[in-house]
Amino acid sequence: MREPFLAAVPVIEKLESAGFEAYFVGGSVRDFLLNKEINDVDIATSATPSEVKQIFPKTVDVGIEHGTVLVLFENQSYEITTFRSEAEYEDFRRPKEVSFIRNLREDLQRRDFTMNAIAMDKNGNLIDPFNGKISILNQVIQTVGKAVDRFQEDALRMMRAVRFVSQLSFKIEKETLNALIDLVHLLENIAVERKQAEFEKLLCGDDRKQALELILQTNIYSHLPGLSGGEDGIKLMVGYKLEKLNKREMWALLVYCLNIEKKDIEHFLRGWRIPLKEIREIQLILQYLYQRIETSWSLYDLYTAGKEVFVSSEILYLVIKGIENQNTIQHYLQLFEKLPIKDRSEMDVTGNDLMNWFNKTGGPWVKEVLLRVEHAIIAGKIANNKKIIKEWLMECNHN
Ligand code: ATP
Ligand code: MG
Repeated sequence: MREPFLAAVPVIEKLESAGFEAYFVGGSVRDFLLNKEINDVDIATSATPSEVKQIFPKTVDVGIEHGTVLVLFENQSYEITTFRSEAEYEDFRRPKEVSFIRNLREDLQRRDFTMNAIAMDKNGNLIDPFNGKISILNQVIQTVGKAVDRFQEDALRMMRAVRFVSQLSFKIEKETLNALIDLVHLLENIAVERKQAEFEKLLCGDDRKQALELILQTNIYSHLPGLSGGEDGIKLMVGYKLEKLNKREMWALLVYCLNIEKKDIEHFLRGWRIPLKEIREIQLILQYLYQRIETSWSLYDLYTAGKEVFVSSEILYLVIKGIENQNTIQHYLQLFEKLPIKDRSEMDVTGNDLMNWFNKTGGPWVKEVLLRVEHAIIAGKIANNKKIIKEWLMECNHN
């Protein structure tokens, strides 16, 4: 076994010495068997949430109704989930109620795919009743049990299948894929927030191109916010070189490919429940991308866009133009680094200075003069120095 499991072994031992069973489960075991980087180590246990809380002094209730308690242990946190079964499903969504059980096998059985239904004990022994390891070796995504039943229980699993295609470059097993194609309309019942989480992972996976093709092929796209009717846009996107783009750049490119009008971008992204702060960042990237398509960057554009935004816009510009050479980014970064100021707050003059110098009360003129000074500093006409700015303003009668 390797880290981060080793650090979590004492957590399992604590549960065991209190008389319970506990295992590593889910994505961490799968990624371990794939020799991939392991994100969160999740633990499944026969202890109920309240029993878990009695054993560990520091816990956070993150999803106690689903049996999950976050345990803080030696500067790490672990999601510890009580073995559960999910018998009753409503409207093709998550179960109405979960029932806690004391049996590991049943807990593994309610999991989505065989590759995600493997448990590992503290010594590294696998408990793998659904042959998940073989699925991993064969690189297939296959539901635990009949795909038709499992997708009817929770339709999100169909999106999860495609997001794992993106992350792992596995193939979806035939029966699983057929069920997905037949039942794709059930995605209508799924909360946008859950779709968003899977879609963003899909957008950022190594094999995102293939996943987007599957989204088209299976008609999943018709059941995603703002994407029904977006077939041509997604096809256009699939044709670009997508691998190196980050999450925001992927969203911006999607908006670009769908040819969404400027005034409708916010509505589209809100439809996906993207946080407003991120929406603004995506809008900025797009604004400068459209500008970049018309003309090259001026120093003032680099300055107002800021490093992160202009790099993202430039990367997207190169992707759209099919330019592989990224020299322009280095070039613009150098120009950016040489800018005398990187932000308005660094200007060595304030509105108060102006009012004092010109002995005038505030008003729209203050903003105008500050803007002129800002342009002059960025263009290298004057130094960012209070005395020099004052002289320049007085001389040119720039008030
Ligand atoms: P990641 O590395 O992205 O976290 P993961 O496989 O750990 O991938 P999670 O969403 O964190 O995915 O879920 C943890 C585990 O819970 C899964 O491996 C799977 O066993 C189970 N699981 C998650 N969502 C579902 C679902 N909708 N239906 C059934 N089982 C699920
Ligand atoms: Mg996980």
